Amino acid sequence: MSKLVSIRGAVTASDNKQSITNAAVRLADRLYFKNGITDNDVVSVYFTVTPDLTAYSAARAVRESGHNVPFMSGVEPVVDGGLKGCIRMMITAYSDNPARHVYLNGARALRGDIAGNYAIALDGPSGAGKSTVAKLVADALKITYLDTGALYRALGLKCLNEKVDTTNAQAVENCLKDAKVDIEYVNGAQRVMLDGDDVSGKIRTPEVSMAASVTSAMPYVRAKLLGIQREIATNSSVILDGRDIGTVVLPNAEFKFFLTASAEVRAKRRFDELTAKGQSVVYDDVYNDVVQRDKNDSTRAVAPLKQAFDAELVDSDDMTAEQVAAFIVARVSGDVQ
Ligand code: C5P
Repeated sequence: MSKLVSIRGAVTASDNKQSITNAAVRLADRLYFKNGITDNDVVSVYFTVTPDLTAYSAARAVRESGHNVPFMSGVEPVVDGGLKGCIRMMITAYSDNPARHVYLNGARALRGDIAGNYAIALDGPSGAGKSTVAKLVADALKITYLDTGALYRALGLKCLNEKVDTTNAQAVENCLKDAKVDIEYVNGAQRVMLDGDDVSGKIRTPEVSMAASVTSAMPYVRAKLLGIQREIATNSSVILDGRDIGTVVLPNAEFKFFLTASAEVRAKRRFDELTAKGQSVVYDDVYNDVVQRDKNDSTRAVAPLKQAFDAELVDSDDMTAEQVAAFIVARVSGDVQ
């Protein structure tokens, strides 16, 4: 049931037509996108600008970009110590979700809660290239990367080590009750610790993939790993890759991307990766694993794999990991500089 919400945003610009146009249009785009709204949902939009922005009208720039809703604009009074070159928007709209406010560029400083750490949620099916992309993005933006699949794999490995029937939820819970999973960063690389042992290498086998895929559908397993994921995200700016980061783990992440590719392309990439590591695998087996894991991940009752309403879809069939990373870095750095 849609409710009326009041969505706010701000952005800074220089006093020339191009800068005001770019800033105002980007702010409007981000506000619409983050809130999942279109002009049909909007009742009215109110713009204000600081008196130093005289070169062009922000409201007019947004109208010229194609929006057709009732606009109103005004000049703000001069406030001692106030931000210079600032465009503010308030959108009154019908939405199914709570308002998501957006503060870009210098205006991020207006809101300490948003201007501090930020989170990037990168979800998608197995083999879409999430971890390669996430590492490149983390390096470029100098933020922390958390590969959440590694956490599920560590618990899957424990079940295999203890020879537990991974389809038996009660047996899995008993086995994992005292399991301790931790993340350490050694020279910037993530190491996964299971009960004090570094298992980062052991979790990358097809058996562990399948065990993780089956046990990660269990509510107990998901609940056990929720805290550690959120904790890492509160301590620094992060990129988390997984299946339910944008929907469950970090629903308020500033940036959300859903990375996909066809099953064939994903299986080929996984096959090449495993072969390069010296593992002897058959392509058809890898393909069947990918299809089976897709099915497990998207049909499970708890936190199924699905694109968050405010996540941007990136299809990587014809893109290299570098191209996808560059796309994400451009999106993010435009908004957090
Ligand atoms: O991403 P990766 O292939 O390493 O993940 C291993 C398994 O863990 C996936 O098949 C998926 O079932 C599960 N997983 C999950 N939620 C996450 C990350 C991984 O359910 N956030």
